Amino acid sequence: MRKKIVAGNWKMNKTFDDAENLIVEIGTGLREMGIEGKEVVLCPPFLFTEMTVDLSQEHPFYVGVQDISEHEEGAYTGEISAQMVRSLETNFAIIGHSERRMHFNEDDEVVARKVDMAIKNSINPIFCCGEQLEARKDEKHFDVVRGQIEEGLFHLDKSELINVVIAYEPIWAIGTGETASPEQAQEMHAFIRNLISVKYNNELADSVTIVYGGSVKPDNAVEIFGKPDVDGGLIGGASLDAKGFLKIVAALPTDDNN
Ligand code: PEP
Repeated sequence: MRKKIVAGNWKMNKTFDDAENLIVEIGTGLREMGIEGKEVVLCPPFLFTEMTVDLSQEHPFYVGVQDISEHEEGAYTGEISAQMVRSLETNFAIIGHSERRMHFNEDDEVVARKVDMAIKNSINPIFCCGEQLEARKDEKHFDVVRGQIEEGLFHLDKSELINVVIAYEPIWAIGTGETASPEQAQEMHAFIRNLISVKYNNELADSVTIVYGGSVKPDNAVEIFGKPDVDGGLIGGASLDAKGFLKIVAALPTDDNN
């Protein structure tokens, strides 16, 4: 059975107090609504990780970070290592987000090294992939995503890949209000599953969690999450508002109510 996951990527938003209030509001809401069969992951900015981990002791969510260093340790001013993140008992790390690829020049090789660092330190990578608008218009979107998956993930063995959450995030839909249609999301998720099946096997392809990201909101989540190969979402802007984020979590069907 595949894990159903909704993760919130707060990006570079919120001050400490605002973050604490938002986490408590989300955590309380999750407890009240009950989230059996789902996993919720909050990925605040690094500085708030410890506080978020503390609050996760009383609330039903996991904690993730938005990035980790490709390096193990040493003279890399400003970097945060996977080992440091793990030492705070953090379970997930977003890796290869399009904003990191775009603004910080992270290529597939760097992303693959970050994936390895995460796996080595027992952190589940939330591995982002997705095409630019031009690639979609030129009908190259499958090629782009195939390349990112092959370069970033296909050096892993089966027991490692099963711990990866793949996030398909078409870049043209991130923070733009433009969403991929549920059919476009389903088509790409099925494509990714097929890549895994050909490279590894059917069983693994069926077991890997693939979430969609790109302007998911309370009013489009039900339709997107209703597609058979969509196992949840990576939520940016809409994760900064507790009520909206809770509605998105509620929209995710579990295998019991699917
Ligand atoms: C994201 O940053 O991963 C994301 C999906 O952002 P948004 O939901 O704002 O499009």
